[in-house]
Amino acid sequence: PPLFDMHPVKTLFKIPRNPPPTLLHPEKWCRGFNHFISQCLIKDFEKRPSVTHLLEHPFIRQAHGKDMSLQKQLADLIQAQEQLGFIAKIRYCALYYSADTIIHQLQKRYADLQIYTYVGDILIALNPFQNLSIYSPQFSKLYHGVKRSSNPPHIFASADAAYQGMVTFSKDQCIIISGESGAGKTESAHLIVQHLTFLGKANNRALREKILQVNPLVEAFGNACTAINDNSSRFGKYLEMMFTPTGAVMGAKISEYLLEKSRVIKQAVGEKNFHIFYYIYAGLFHQKKLSEYRLPEKKPPRYIDNETGRVMQDIITKDSYGRQFEAIQHCFRIIGFTDEEVHSVYKILAGILNTGNIEFAAISSQHQTDKSEVPNAEALDNAAALLSIGSEELQEALTSHCVVTRGETIIRTNTVDKAADVRDAMSKALYGRLFSWIVNRINTLLHNAESRMNVGILDIFGFENFTRNSFEQLCINIANEQIQFYFNQHIFALEQMEYQNEGIDATTVEYEDNRPLLDMFLQKPMGVLSLLDEESRFPQATDLTLVDKFEDNLRCKYFWRPKRVELCFGIQHYAGKVLYDAYGFLEKNRDTLPADIVVVLRTSENKLLQQLFSSPLTKTGISLLYFQIDTMEMMRHPEETTNMKRQTVASYFRYSLMDLLSKMVVGQPHFVRCIKPNDDREALKFSQERVLVQLRYTGILETVKIRQQGYSHRILFEEFVKRYYYLAFKAHQTPLGSRESCIAILEKSKLDNWVLGKTKVFLKYYHIEQLNLFLREV
Ligand code: ATP
Ligand code: MG
Repeated sequence: PPLFDMHPVKTLFKIPRNPPPTLLHPEKWCRGFNHFISQCLIKDFEKRPSVTHLLEHPFIRQAHGKDMSLQKQLADLIQAQEQLGFIAKIRYCALYYSADTIIHQLQKRYADLQIYTYVGDILIALNPFQNLSIYSPQFSKLYHGVKRSSNPPHIFASADAAYQGMVTFSKDQCIIISGESGAGKTESAHLIVQHLTFLGKANNRALREKILQVNPLVEAFGNACTAINDNSSRFGKYLEMMFTPTGAVMGAKISEYLLEKSRVIKQAVGEKNFHIFYYIYAGLFHQKKLSEYRLPEKKPPRYIDNETGRVMQDIITKDSYGRQFEAIQHCFRIIGFTDEEVHSVYKILAGILNTGNIEFAAISSQHQTDKSEVPNAEALDNAAALLSIGSEELQEALTSHCVVTRGETIIRTNTVDKAADVRDAMSKALYGRLFSWIVNRINTLLHNAESRMNVGILDIFGFENFTRNSFEQLCINIANEQIQFYFNQHIFALEQMEYQNEGIDATTVEYEDNRPLLDMFLQKPMGVLSLLDEESRFPQATDLTLVDKFEDNLRCKYFWRPKRVELCFGIQHYAGKVLYDAYGFLEKNRDTLPADIVVVLRTSENKLLQQLFSSPLTKTGISLLYFQIDTMEMMRHPEETTNMKRQTVASYFRYSLMDLLSKMVVGQPHFVRCIKPNDDREALKFSQERVLVQLRYTGILETVKIRQQGYSHRILFEEFVKRYYYLAFKAHQTPLGSRESCIAILEKSKLDNWVLGKTKVFLKYYHIEQLNLFLREV
């Protein structure tokens, strides 16, 4: 199979500092040898050549015959190089178009702890599940401002490319990291921030420190231990690092998406609540301050203890929790939160934990049978005290609600179940708003009005398909569908557009265009989200009527309804079929917090809490941009406003998705695809099946195809002539930057398979390798 992409070999052999004595002209020899190796690789080398391998290769035998002295010299040189640690290994990622060969190559590289591989412009990152010593400042230096081909593939090279692109072309950049849970997205994002802070050397050291504390702080509140990943991000994050035109880092800004608030009130077996709850519990425990925050020492609150008492043991014995608490306090301080703010944050967190312990019992009186009360006032009083509100008022708001009918206000009582729902809704709202407040506060503290350009880093949950998929999975999968669409546009559609514009007849690569699917989700008024919103407005609607509505209106091949399970519907996503369970969809979409609760919380004496609930319940005046990237015009954006008064989760989700996209489309994208080599979190274990699935649904296999069939390098005539004119002209000649000059160069170089467009030379990856080699030989 033809080679389609290869890590350039030109830096393979450096001239040894102490050449073996038998070698008379080391420089000449190295040049010749490198040329030879590149020929081997281009021809048929599949395996990484070892010394004996090289010596036995027919090419070298042919080249040097049976001249043993030359072979001896060669062996000596390689040995000397290896001893000196110059190269030792030939780094290349020769990939062939075939899933098997790609997997094979990845597996081989993984076994050597080469976790990074380029496929065209995309970086594949395999999770090593062990700490590697390739992220030190020395490595940052190594990857600073050099050509990608000078070093082995690395995440720093991607960060560097984004940074150089920003500084050179004064253009915003965005790095899109994708992959399934536990694949290494968040780690990759950290490494990118680390390298960017290194590159954007802020004169201001304090600022650099601040930026580095952003991720740990936000993740303490937004990450949790799940069945798959001990540090799983339960929200999507877009971090923009801001720079001056000369590339000095100036500030940062985060946007958060779809925090999984339901985790606050309930976690699946074997999973935990957000990290911060355990951190503060341990921190306060060790500081002997639990009682100050009205938290019990014996039995931790229900929200964080779903595993019968194990938690307290962990809190007391695991000193990592305590250390994390210290780290979080440090983050708060460095970023610039005041002590008062931090104290308020802790009080609200403790308030949420106490709220979870409020229980209800039914009381029946003569007239009312569905009334509830709080039999044990301890948790209620604690929660009220921590939230600085009246305990009676809180009880009132939990156990009853006001209804306004014909101008009259009537108070209705809540059943026990209803009261418990209101309690949990309040906890979720408190946590969700607290999280947004922290994010906004960080943005204010790190904002810099003078910054001109930015590099955005998107770390968002990958495609999810569980045994039971609910509303959250639907939102996450729609977000992935949108990002995949953007990826397709960038990799396939734009490439093909360029061929067309240049009048080149290149084979069209078939790829799965997910636009129809995206339309099915986002279209108005008949898309999934719009139908969901419409149904959410009817008080009598149920989850079943919602699925009926989907079935009636979504008449396309991507949607189906299984016969026997009433509340289920299926969707054929780009990454596979997912069966959704519509139970609770309407409730989750409405995400209503009873007005009575808001009224009580607004009376709080805690300034921060007041602030969280002072904005109107709904976001008004936000104009929604409905962006869809169009193949031909790239972007069209009919503006539309929506009645935000009845804002639902779906409409806010749509808004934030479009907002994210609008940021992404203005920048130059860089893609990092994280891959999880096994499900057991084991180092050096490589499951071919698991990797194949991930390669397939991240579009890598198609990318390989387009790279193989397409022309990876497109150079303007003028630039091409400027770069390579030595190959066909004399030094004193000044050829025109024309089509004819290009032909002269290409013909003289005896290359084939190239094409000329209207303004550009289209070359395959290996043409560039060869041209550069020739250039060095001239
Ligand atoms: P989620 O979608 O659940 O947030 P994720 O893709 O963000 O998952 P990470 O949290 O980044 O996954 O990675 C999971 C774990 O894998 C990390 O906690 C770490 O132990 C390991 N890991 C990932 N990348 C690396 C790396 N480059 N070096 C060492 N360990 C890594
Ligand atoms: Mg993550």
